[in-house]
Amino acid sequence: MNQNVDCIFHIEDALEMILLFDQMGIISFANAMARKNLGYDSLCGVHISEIFPNTFKSTENGFETDYSFGEEHQNLVAYRKNLTCFPAEVRIINSDVSQGIYICMANDILEKEYLNREIENVRQDAEHALKVKSEFIANVTHELRTPVNGVLGNVKELLATEHDEHTKKSLRLIERCCGDMNKIINNILDFSKLEAGKFTLEPRKFSFRNMLDYVRENHINKLNEKGLGFFMTISPQIPEYIIGDELRITQILNNLLSNAQKFTSVGKITVEVLRTARVNDKIELFFIVSDTGIGIDSADKSKLFQSFSQVDASISRKYGGTGLGLNICKQLVELMGGRIEVESEKNRGSTFSFSIWVELCDEDKNTSFQPADKKQASLSTSFIQNYSEKGSNETDNIKRYGTAENRENLKRNMSKMILCIEMDNWEKAEMFMDVIKQLTENAPSDVSRTILKLKMAIQKENYDKVIAEYNALGKMIESEVQQTV
Ligand code: ADP
Repeated sequence: MNQNVDCIFHIEDALEMILLFDQMGIISFANAMARKNLGYDSLCGVHISEIFPNTFKSTENGFETDYSFGEEHQNLVAYRKNLTCFPAEVRIINSDVSQGIYICMANDILEKEYLNREIENVRQDAEHALKVKSEFIANVTHELRTPVNGVLGNVKELLATEHDEHTKKSLRLIERCCGDMNKIINNILDFSKLEAGKFTLEPRKFSFRNMLDYVRENHINKLNEKGLGFFMTISPQIPEYIIGDELRITQILNNLLSNAQKFTSVGKITVEVLRTARVNDKIELFFIVSDTGIGIDSADKSKLFQSFSQVDASISRKYGGTGLGLNICKQLVELMGGRIEVESEKNRGSTFSFSIWVELCDEDKNTSFQPADKKQASLSTSFIQNYSEKGSNETDNIKRYGTAENRENLKRNMSKMILCIEMDNWEKAEMFMDVIKQLTENAPSDVSRTILKLKMAIQKENYDKVIAEYNALGKMIESEVQQTV
């Protein structure tokens, strides 16, 4: 019943003229488009020969016609109520032979041609606008890159010869800002090329492990600074050399690792790479990047891979970024024949995984291969840097205020923070302060209050106040240790 009602609504609103008539030629239904185009308030009771007088003749038994009912469209002349006419593309089927119900579907040919022309114009306009936009973005990003690199080059030169610490601090800040601007410019350029379908991959032979070494080198200092563990494991099934777009694979990994590092203050980051399938001379590589950071609410997961999307405004204020990175990763992964996915829970870390297809080099084409289970592959640890493996229990203990692991980490971060302040690096001190805040999330209120005062003192760059609050905090933590011993 509901389906019938739905169906009648669709017919009534259809863009085609639709008429129903019986074996006598009497119209029993006409939809809105038919009423409008034919100029009637109601067509019920009108004979079909009044609409198509050149094709249908009214007779005593109903009508006579040489129209061949069926699936084919035929061009007829349709007459309006006011006796003006227009060419129509008409298809009439005899839907119920026993009861003699005919369904007529018709389009005004002139209107259809006009609409097609309009659609073509809109399509051409949109194509032109996209081309102009891509050219504009390419020009602007190029124009921006030139001065930024000019500034960067000069700053590097000045840094090499400058001895005054205060000036050096400002120069380093300019250097960092230029680096950030370059990253944004590159992201916008990639995004516009991908959107315009003008992006091409550049596959060539490269050493897979060297690439991963380079990625690790890129992040290890920041990870060490934050006191985060970092582990990378590569399946022995992956050959030394493969053919793929090294630059773009690096770009995806760098983006995922920068995010993992940005959104994790305690715990570790791991990267695993598996070989999961082979078809002819191509193999599928599966990458897993996990962190123990702030995690993502399940409601926000769908937004992640959209362009310009950050989980919420407070994230962009606190951590920066344009929200383009993951969208670019998704498009690059798809260009390489794969998929990117995320598993995450608020405050329980995130795991991003993606697959890509690369080509085997000639020397590996005849070797056999056992596909790895994406979840349970036996991995060879290619290198473990700086830290011993910490289980998830230990990560939980670090986060729980008062545990031995938490105290140890707190102490380490506090001394790193005070070192930064002594070296006049307030910005980095703030970063350690963020970690300290997270490590003391469920601390007693007097500790939380002191933390807040310490944070404010750092933000005001007030050395004396920082030292006073730092000492007070140290004493509080010590006395709690004594109480629990
Ligand atoms: P941006 O360039 O701004 O970092 P991305 O597209 O890379 O943009 O990330 C979009 C958003 O996804 C981030 O602003 C953050 O909210 C969320 N996000 C990405 N990676 C992580 C992660 N490892 N942990 C928590 N949130 C993440």
